[in-house]
Amino acid sequence: MKRSVVTGGAGFLGSHLCERLLDEGHAVICLDNFVTGTPVNVAHLTGHEHFRLVRCNVTDYVHVTGPVDYVLHFASPASPIDYLNLPIHTLKVGSIGTLHALGLAKEKHARFVLASTSEVYGDPQVHPQPEDYWGHVNPVGPRGVYDEAKRFGEALTMAYRRSHGVDAGIVRIFNTHGPRMRPNDGRAIPAFATQALRGEPITVAGDGSQTRSIIYVDDLVEGIVRMTFSGHPGPMNIGNPHELSILELAELVREVAKSESVISFIPRPEDDPTVRQPDISLAREILGWEPAVDLRSGLDSTVSWFRGHPDVIRRDASRPD
Ligand code: NAD
Ligand code: UDP
Repeated sequence: MKRSVVTGGAGFLGSHLCERLLDEGHAVICLDNFVTGTPVNVAHLTGHEHFRLVRCNVTDYVHVTGPVDYVLHFASPASPIDYLNLPIHTLKVGSIGTLHALGLAKEKHARFVLASTSEVYGDPQVHPQPEDYWGHVNPVGPRGVYDEAKRFGEALTMAYRRSHGVDAGIVRIFNTHGPRMRPNDGRAIPAFATQALRGEPITVAGDGSQTRSIIYVDDLVEGIVRMTFSGHPGPMNIGNPHELSILELAELVREVAKSESVISFIPRPEDDPTVRQPDISLAREILGWEPAVDLRSGLDSTVSWFRGHPDVIRRDASRPD
């Protein structure tokens, strides 16, 4: 039986990945300090005989007994609200945490996969973004803590590959949505869905003309698992090339939620990327992968998740008529 370690496994993406690896027949060890994730995300897995949840800050120390075949390093605050609240933690987990996770992979002769991000392209000057684009990042702006931590993590991953022969790879993940996102994580889809379901104004930043390309979590996990088993070094973009403006996204979420919320325009955050769209030619060629879930049905599932979320309902119940 293969053994996989997922750092950040109690987070949004990590929990889906743990679930999928168990389905693949792996034993899964989930390491998490619950800074932005929660044991609730993996509560349904804790009875599984091959699943183990360990509270661990990977910036402090990573130790796993016995053999390990795969190390998937997903630990890091990921939403702008989280990494702006936790800037030093974010830099530490992206640097020292990645060093520890790579050290584990080296010691165990395991395949290593770094969860990197489309944010390494910053506010891109090349559109869509292929993997050989080096990016346009402001290192000293507020988002720099996340973008540069991930860029450092990528450099470290390649150094371990070149200098220590670790079978290491990098996936650059584009905006993902699905069940287990937190209603208050500040990202566009949780914000829009929660606001639409509560009948509150939907807060669109700027004039909403900035673009993103959103992928449903099941598609993302499929791409990541294929990349993990491929042995390819990457970096490899995993995202959905379907690009839309944030205003279009807000309107679509409102429609899916059958809401009559008004759109309210708020100031655009500093260094907010103007466009984002993955070039996924490499993933198509190497993995034979591309997204399969269409935009609307993905959003249907995500909005349903928020509709059933206690925090969304609770606030709803407390609203005056
Ligand atoms: P998340 O916040 O839901 O999950 C991150 C998990 O890492 C949480 O459970 C958190 O508690 C854990 N964690 C953070 N610091 C840790 C530490 N020092 N030690 C142990 N655990 C720690 O975020 P997510 O959306 O699931 O993102 C997971 C990964 O994917 C992150 O590395 C993120 O940068 C990357 N990513 C996500 C997206 C996206 O759209 N969700 C896009 C690009 C990249
Ligand atoms: N955004 C918005 N309203 C919100 C939250 C976010 O208009 O309530 C915008 C944000 O400024 C950005 C886009 O939506 O232009 C995507 O933001 P998100 O935080 O989801 O992802 P990221 O910026 O990290 O790609």
